[in-house]
Amino acid sequence: MWGIVRSDDGGAWRRYVPGLDKGKGLYFFFIKSETKTPGGLPAMPVTTSFYKRYIKHRRAFNPYDVRTSPTAAILCTDSFQSMYAQMLCGLLARTEVLRIGAVFASGLLRAIRFLQLHWKELAHDLRTGTLSGKVVEPSIRDAVAEVLTGPNAELADFVTAECGKDKWEGIITRMWPNTKYLDVIVTGAMAQYIPTLKFYSGGLPMACKIYASSECYFGLNLRPMCDPSEVSYTIMPNMGYFELMPHDPDAAPLPRDSPPPRLVDLADAEVGREYELVITTYAGLCRYRVGDILQVTGFHNAAPQFRFVRRKNVLLSIDSDKTDEVELQAAVERASGLLSPYNASVVEYTSHADAATIPGHYVVYWELALREGGAWPEAAVLERCCLEMEQALNAVYRQGRNGEAIGPLEIRVVRAGTFEEMMDYAVSRGASISQYKAPRCVSLVPIIELLNSRVLSKHFSPACPNYIQPARTTSDRHGLASKCPSSTIPV
Ligand code: AMP
Repeated sequence: MWGIVRSDDGGAWRRYVPGLDKGKGLYFFFIKSETKTPGGLPAMPVTTSFYKRYIKHRRAFNPYDVRTSPTAAILCTDSFQSMYAQMLCGLLARTEVLRIGAVFASGLLRAIRFLQLHWKELAHDLRTGTLSGKVVEPSIRDAVAEVLTGPNAELADFVTAECGKDKWEGIITRMWPNTKYLDVIVTGAMAQYIPTLKFYSGGLPMACKIYASSECYFGLNLRPMCDPSEVSYTIMPNMGYFELMPHDPDAAPLPRDSPPPRLVDLADAEVGREYELVITTYAGLCRYRVGDILQVTGFHNAAPQFRFVRRKNVLLSIDSDKTDEVELQAAVERASGLLSPYNASVVEYTSHADAATIPGHYVVYWELALREGGAWPEAAVLERCCLEMEQALNAVYRQGRNGEAIGPLEIRVVRAGTFEEMMDYAVSRGASISQYKAPRCVSLVPIIELLNSRVLSKHFSPACPNYIQPARTTSDRHGLASKCPSSTIPV
């Protein structure tokens, strides 16, 4: 993704953030190895092709496009060496850094996690003026040698003092004190990282600039410094041929043999309506359904502007219930509120519809983190979290629970670093680090096995969620009487 709106674009950016030409950008970017299609064409994620083409062949000096990461580090496919060098160079330029970014919020958080794990080695390198032997790629070593020109005891002491405190709140602004904003996408599935990013950055603004995919660039946020909750992307009609498939979240599924719904042209988009994006691209995709649901928020000239609602078909389903990404996220958010008295929070989660048990049930994997002075919540609290999640899910789910079509929701707490291992697995299977997004629902057996092997504790919902039975419902007709004491559980 995603070079089209370059963070370097001084012309546009000086309108929003003054002085970006007076310092540098610390961007954590990664590429992955190319593969070949069966027909022999090179295949790679768009970030890889962009970095290879753009960064490698960048010519003229642009004061708005000075970055700390050496090109050799970005172009290295070994993610450890790449990250190590990018972090070290970022630390060396700590006072010059004016903005910090990655493609998605998850990428930036991965960099912070890397600092947590490797600050001692990084401080050692700064103190001795030598690059760790773990970085073996000669081009990276040469590039780092240009900035790591000798011992820097003062900086090493600073990194040791700050990272050694074990107080990670505000670490971004402590390490890079002149940072004006974070340049990361925090809309859609990435919205769940906003609180964690705020925690690490002391509440720096987050700029979501672009909405794009490997298939096509879609839209730009013309107010990049607005609050993430207000982000609308303006479609760039010259990037492809865009059509919209009306999407009605409440509509019953169409019968199999019914014709596909009529597509709407961009100019005919209606404000407030939801659509699925359908693209025809210069590269040859014809009426390709992107799978993203967008809501029209207005127009810029004649181009519609969209709020990213969610990805379609990210569902948990056991019976007739259907839980999408937004609902699951809202449920996790609501339940994780019960952890605040413990100074604990959910840093990552995913889910799985476990149909191996009868009835099947939702399993939600949580990776927890404790803030300063925090304590691990007792089992009873986590059970209560299970119920709280259930309370937040839709009526069909709650009805299914009361009718025993769905078993009690289960939270499995996994040990710290599990989601990073999950990402490593995906990367080892060909996913791009830059574009990786933790799936909110997993079904691949190796991933589930990985998650299950890292489980620290399991907790089940102790009761049924509230469900007020309408006078005569489908479940009445099917004889699904409520067998749970749900109505006694306060919301
Ligand atoms: P990829 O296929 O890895 O290139 O990812 C493209 C997908 O990432 C899009 O179809 C969206 O689901 C998601 N995505 C890209 N940009 C954004 C954005 N700005 N906000 C929310 N989701 C996004």
